[in-house]
Amino acid sequence: MTVHLLGAAEIRALAAELELTPTKRLGQNFVVDANTVRKIVQLARVGAGDRVVEIGPGLGSLTLGVLESGAEVVAVEIDHRLAARLPRTAADHDVRSGALTVMDADALTVTELPGGPAVLVANLPYNVSVPVLLHFLETFSHLRRGVVMVQAEVGERLAAAPGSKVYGVPSVKAAWYGRWTLAGTVSRQVFWPVPGVDSVLVAFERDAQERGTDEERRRVFALVDAAFGQRRKMLRQSLSGLVGGSAAAAALLERAAVDPTARGESLSVDDFLRVARA
Ligand code: SAM
Repeated sequence: MTVHLLGAAEIRALAAELELTPTKRLGQNFVVDANTVRKIVQLARVGAGDRVVEIGPGLGSLTLGVLESGAEVVAVEIDHRLAARLPRTAADHDVRSGALTVMDADALTVTELPGGPAVLVANLPYNVSVPVLLHFLETFSHLRRGVVMVQAEVGERLAAAPGSKVYGVPSVKAAWYGRWTLAGTVSRQVFWPVPGVDSVLVAFERDAQERGTDEERRRVFALVDAAFGQRRKMLRQSLSGLVGGSAAAAALLERAAVDPTARGESLSVDDFLRVARA
């Protein structure tokens, strides 16, 4: 299928028609470059027969690129004007009817999505990128893999390994669900308006097996929040509030074969899981 992708002039015309001034609050930086869209779609390895979930389709730049691949798209958009306009944009661009489903909703609170196994493809709203990602991974186990565009700093954290300077809460929580890798950088110039930060693409692949139960995930996440809340402290201190004192924390860590004098930044998600189980 050939779908004419959106360029800068068309994006501005659509925004003018909707009397839309992009807002920072909703992280509205629209991609105005077809090459960038095609690069993301290629990285996401989607095509006919695939189902894609997109968060924040905006004016449809990426949506049309994914639809061009032959995949079907379910897109969740919080801005009513954008959600209402998108089906017409798709139809104007010769997208087969039924290939696109638009949900006018806040992605942070969505609990149901139509369809089976799916690939997440999104240029995420930067102010909520991590909470939205974690919410989707937790709520929709049928999201098996994906490619997302995020602020460079966030992408580096998502893909960081233990011991790295940027390894932190998002790194461990994201690793609970699977493997994350940096997949490329994106120039600021491909957006309108041009953002004040750099962007990167991050790819993820969900693990074939769930790492643990929901209860274990909740415990691991609480341990991670405590460990990195006091990043410079040793684990026996940073976890003391959670388990009733530093002696109890030290005993617990030893049972889990984790050095009580280590810091959170040296522990993998599986180390945290051993502590949660202990
Ligand atoms: N995908 C489009 C593109 O690449 O041009 C737009 C990306 S823009 C960075 C982020 C989009 O997410 C905006 O359309 C914004 O309205 C939408 N958005 C912001 N917060 C959202 C939320 N909580 N739920 C769903 N969409 C949201």
